[in-house]
Amino acid sequence: MSDEISAAHNTAFPVEAITPDELKLKREEQTLHIRWRDGRLSVYPAVMLRRQCPCATCRTERDQKKTELLPILKSDPGQIKLANAKLVGTYAIQLIWSDGHDAGIFDYKYLRSLDRNA
Ligand SMILES: [Zn+2]
Repeated sequence: MSDEISAAHNTAFPVEAITPDELKLKREEQTLHIRWRDGRLSVYPAVMLRRQCPCATCRTERDQKKTELLPILKSDPGQIKLANAKLVGTYAIQLIWSDGHDAGIFDYKYLRSLDRNA
């Protein structure tokens, strides 16, 4: 029974839920807006996106922070601005940050799952 529930939970999103009709980067507000084909509007604060950056460097950094007894704050994510967003094929966007970091490729499925957790 519990297997069925977790299997349902892992079901891929319907294609309308991970297809953006409109993408807007609001630099003033530092938010990324995505209007999905299923009608939902997701608003992602830049700080949150930076914390959830899926690139290998950021992931490693996050894992290390979890295990450190005294976490050292290397950089305050609040000071880093989202400078640009570029489409990557039809499945993702690349976010470019004011500190030059641009390795994070956010695929739409990942973005949609971030919205769910918000
Ligand atoms: Zn990153």
